[in-house]
Amino acid sequence: MRFVKGLKCVLCGALHSTRVPYTCPRCGESGILDVQYDYAAIKRVLTRRTLAARPDRSQWRYRELLPLRADAALPDVAVGWTPLTPAPALGRHLGLGRLFLKDDGRNASGSLKDRPSAIGAVKAREKRRKIVACASTGNAASSCACLAASMGLRSVIFVPERAPEPKVTQLLIFGATVLRVRGSYEQAFQLCQRACEKWGWYNRNCAINPYLVEGKKTAGLEIAEQLSWEPPDWVAVSVGDGCTIAGVWKAFRELRTLGIVARTPRILGVQAEGAAPVTAAFATGEPPRPMEPRTIADSIAVGVPRNWKKAVMAVREADGAMIDVSDGEILDAMRYTGRLAGVFAEPAAAASVAGLRRAAREGIVGRRATAVALITGNGLKDVQAARAAAGVPFDIPPEGDGLEDILKERKLVDCHEA
Ligand SMILES: *Cc1c(COP(=O)(O)O)cnc(C)c1O
Repeated sequence: MRFVKGLKCVLCGALHSTRVPYTCPRCGESGILDVQYDYAAIKRVLTRRTLAARPDRSQWRYRELLPLRADAALPDVAVGWTPLTPAPALGRHLGLGRLFLKDDGRNASGSLKDRPSAIGAVKAREKRRKIVACASTGNAASSCACLAASMGLRSVIFVPERAPEPKVTQLLIFGATVLRVRGSYEQAFQLCQRACEKWGWYNRNCAINPYLVEGKKTAGLEIAEQLSWEPPDWVAVSVGDGCTIAGVWKAFRELRTLGIVARTPRILGVQAEGAAPVTAAFATGEPPRPMEPRTIADSIAVGVPRNWKKAVMAVREADGAMIDVSDGEILDAMRYTGRLAGVFAEPAAAASVAGLRRAAREGIVGRRATAVALITGNGLKDVQAARAAAGVPFDIPPEGDGLEDILKERKLVDCHEA
């Protein structure tokens, strides 16, 4: 790892060597580590010009900013360089100047989690582990299994009871050993930790594994590059554990340090009303109290956010804001994101759009602002939730009785012509 200087504890600030495997030896499990780079050295090789000349259409185009060895074996499936598309009609609906959607549902397993999982699989191979493990509400798991499969590793996955069926099916297709824990995400997480220690598996868990969040960072790097290094005014990110938002912010901070961008966007963190401990921590400055999460957005239904501190620090530094949205607003956002932009987002992903709408209404995000909503996962991941948003089809007989009435009602035929 040519450009990595060490691992810094977010609690006590101590700088550790990369021999430390997961969290700060002094602070224990809450001492999340942050990868530190030699930016002066990176600056000499990573510029707008050198990046423009790179052929990789994947997150690996930013290799100097990733904790990889130069000779690291990389997965074959597609990770990163997902489309950033303008969404003018949706932008008008939300009351924004310009809106772009960064569609991370287009990754190998259908979510942004493929970015960190790819780093996890690469590190596992580097450490000569044959098994990777993770506990997840769904997407981290399916992407862990997908990337493990792509790199010839085996995977053991602990899922909480309420994980949506499509995500569990995805795991099984990727060949994972799936352990459905009759309990909460928190319990599945603890069990996974113990099993990793006992059997020496590589732990793909963003909240404690410092390298994974570096993968999440690449979403931010891509947003900047895809906008020709003109960052938007706001980037909206949904928040569960808090790793994604911290990663996205780190991307922009690094690009500014490297002199590649002149300014950074403000970051809007969005949580679901029924699972909003990070918003509370942002408002009060106090550590969040564990809570029982209740929301349709299963990917951000986190009652004990492990990375709340990094998340809160990121939003503060970014001069950003945190906002909560209801499940009703999330379902609405799934509908209008599909109808006005042609993007099918899962509930946790649509939360970022719902958050932008609320922030625009409350005047947090200005009417002329340029914003990017990070679509973190594909809607097909959770068909049951999508059905609640989408409604039902019209049933008609093969003779077509009643067809015309339906078309009129939907304004698909001109009433005068009929
Ligand atoms: C994991 C996830 C998030 C939130 O990421 P955190 O790092 O847990 O904050 C948001 N949306 C989707 C679809 C996810 O899978």
